[in-house]
Amino acid sequence: MSGVSGATGADTVCLGHGAKRGRTPSSASPAPAWRSIGGDYVQYNTCQRVSCRSAPRSRTRTGAREPRPLHCSPVPAAAAPSRIGLFGGTFDPPHVGHLVTAVNVRHALGLDVVVLMVANVPWQKQGARTISPADDRFAMVRAAVADVDGLIAGDAEIRRGGASYTADTLAVLAGEHPAATLFTIVGDDAAAGITTWERHDEVVARSNLVVVDRPGAPVRLPEQFDWIRVEVPHLEVSSTDLRARVADGRPLDYLLTDPVLQIVRERGLYREASVAPAGVGAAG
Ligand code: ATP
Ligand code: MG
Repeated sequence: MSGVSGATGADTVCLGHGAKRGRTPSSASPAPAWRSIGGDYVQYNTCQRVSCRSAPRSRTRTGAREPRPLHCSPVPAAAAPSRIGLFGGTFDPPHVGHLVTAVNVRHALGLDVVVLMVANVPWQKQGARTISPADDRFAMVRAAVADVDGLIAGDAEIRRGGASYTADTLAVLAGEHPAATLFTIVGDDAAAGITTWERHDEVVARSNLVVVDRPGAPVRLPEQFDWIRVEVPHLEVSSTDLRARVADGRPLDYLLTDPVLQIVRERGLYREASVAPAGVGAAG
């Protein structure tokens, strides 16, 4: 096991990137830093690059935040994983289909870590429906993976700001972990649209494409790419259905984890129905 999950000293991440809950701050260990978030102490490993640190980002004239630099590391700098899976999505909300996919791909391919990377602006979904704030989506993913070995929540795309492109995130990963082999993990609905992704040629060049079948209409994968197919249990669950369930007052039990359900309830997410085409890929 890579040591990037669990409440250990190695379980530290670039400032703000996928915090893990800790017990108490220890004065005996000056680095990594401890920060209090909502009453919980969260351990961070300060990124070595000055521009990744917590300095507030400047704002544009329209009030939008300037994007973070590309080199904000999406995975723990201290861990040096050699096989990294990147599983991007909107995760609005994250559900058991995502988790079952991530743990099974990790197992099948012997990955050190799978990063569930939360898209800041899932540009392919924009306009189709209201997307929940990135902070809420990240909080849910973090809660979903908190106790899962080898899965981490990634907020590099959120911190970078702007539209989220997998090609950019892979470039960051490749820069931070030059010796690592990278894997881009997608469900077949997302895989079918990969040629619409921004700079998809870079995605293919930098990483191995991993596809899992997803219940629903069969899709054709672009034949010009080599795909690694991984069999995972087929779970007919989607975030679209879960949002509709909340709006309709139907049960969500067993479709997402309890900590995620708690956040959905506490933050009052998805109370209003939002029409959306199901199955649109979130990455790009
Ligand atoms: P939405 O219904 O809002 O599109 P979603 O359930 O499709 O949400 P996304 O965040 O869009 O979730 O998907 C992120 C990634 O997870 C995509 O690659 C998608 O194909 C994959 N994925 C989502 N649900 C499943 C599932 N049940 N089984 C396998 N892969 C899935
Ligand atoms: Mg989708």
